[in-house]
Amino acid sequence: MKTIGVDLGGSHVMAAVVDDGGAILEREDIDVESHASDDVLATIVKAVETVRERANEEVDALGLGSPGNVDPITGTVRYSPNFGWHDVPLGRLLHEKLGLTVSIGNDARCAALGEYLHGTGRGTQNFVLLTLGTGIGGGIVVDGALVLGSGSTAGEIGHHQIRATDGFHCHCGKRGCFEAQASGTGLIRHALAVASSFPRSTLVSGKPDKLGSKAIRKAAEAGDAHGVVAWSNYADDLARGLANVITFVNPETIALGGGVSSAGDYMLDALRPRLDELVTMTPREMRRDTKISIASLGNDAGAIGAAAMARQGGLVEAALALRRG
Ligand SMILES: [Zn+2]
Repeated sequence: MKTIGVDLGGSHVMAAVVDDGGAILEREDIDVESHASDDVLATIVKAVETVRERANEEVDALGLGSPGNVDPITGTVRYSPNFGWHDVPLGRLLHEKLGLTVSIGNDARCAALGEYLHGTGRGTQNFVLLTLGTGIGGGIVVDGALVLGSGSTAGEIGHHQIRATDGFHCHCGKRGCFEAQASGTGLIRHALAVASSFPRSTLVSGKPDKLGSKAIRKAAEAGDAHGVVAWSNYADDLARGLANVITFVNPETIALGGGVSSAGDYMLDALRPRLDELVTMTPREMRRDTKISIASLGNDAGAIGAAAMARQGGLVEAALALRRG
């Protein structure tokens, strides 16, 4: 069975024809120029029609992961701050345009499904994916089932507060959310927050808006004093959030994806001793039972998971199908 998975992001759409084994057979990336729902719809349709034609064979269904609060039962995007959408019936509109059966889910939950079935989470029963990009997206698998929660809105790990009194402001309105502190954007904020202590730093020489998370990590790896402090503060906050995740669900594996995860072992080495201190309710000898890994599917996880969702006929059905095995 071949299905199409679509990863809808704020800046681009990726559509892919995916087989049963999670392999991408055809793919198309198109930039999103406007966030108006009609324009985004037209861009999705174009990307899907392109891969459908190229695959030159029957495609059974379409799954799409969208940012924001999504109702997988009705296929409606209830609220998406990235796009400024309220109650957009994306599933129905795509079905009318494309004639395919359409399933819609939250993008991070789709990515978690993709990594669980076909990536780093394979073979586990308890798994968490966290993508460290502009924000932090997440998805949780407990005892073999994807956690959706009431209204299918569970899993917003990025918005649990880790520094409620002294943290950075989050776009959700709170202070010190995990994503405000420990996303790629959070790393940049940490570098800017301590910049005045490093007047000779080359990291923020006149162009703070050009500062990227990769440059900070590279500076830290090279021993630059400003980079080292920013990275250390960032790793403290990332470890705080991960320790909470471990305390709540104690997964066998936490996979880290998104731009910052390209730090690889440099990041994992910084996290391990911090987690040993912060995971207090697990006996010390068991604290390393949770494996922290870099997510293996990278930016393709969302589309691969969306295609897997489509194969099961919806996110709720896919979440239950995991448990049945
Ligand atoms: Zn928040």
